[in-house]
Amino acid sequence: MHEARPQITLPSYREERAKVMEALPSTSCTGCGTQLRITEVLDHCQASWPEHYLLYFTCPHCRQMRHLKVRDDHVAIGYLDGAPGPRFVTQSEIVLPSLIVSNDEDTIELTLGDHAWVIHAKE
Ligand SMILES: [Zn+2]
Repeated sequence: MHEARPQITLPSYREERAKVMEALPSTSCTGCGTQLRITEVLDHCQASWPEHYLLYFTCPHCRQMRHLKVRDDHVAIGYLDGAPGPRFVTQSEIVLPSLIVSNDEDTIELTLGDHAWVIHAKE
């Protein structure tokens, strides 16, 4: 007779990933109050302004437009105020330790875990 060996069940990739996605911070739309995951926010970015690390985001629920200012591990959501040289006004901020941001003349590229977004410059 032998003792039952303890069973170690490793969570599947899918479960792990679900947990990671679950843990991703969300923000609420300033227009309609809908909670939006950061992945949804980035999915709905329409255009970028690469040299300023700015993105244009349109809420998929109420179509309100907001700007995002991105950098490694950090996304700020807000709007542009005034001229000359519009100033970014932060309304909410999300800290994302795994976010990697890069830019070139025409695009901003964001990587978050196994998600990647390439957002082209506004024409
Ligand atoms: Zn909205």
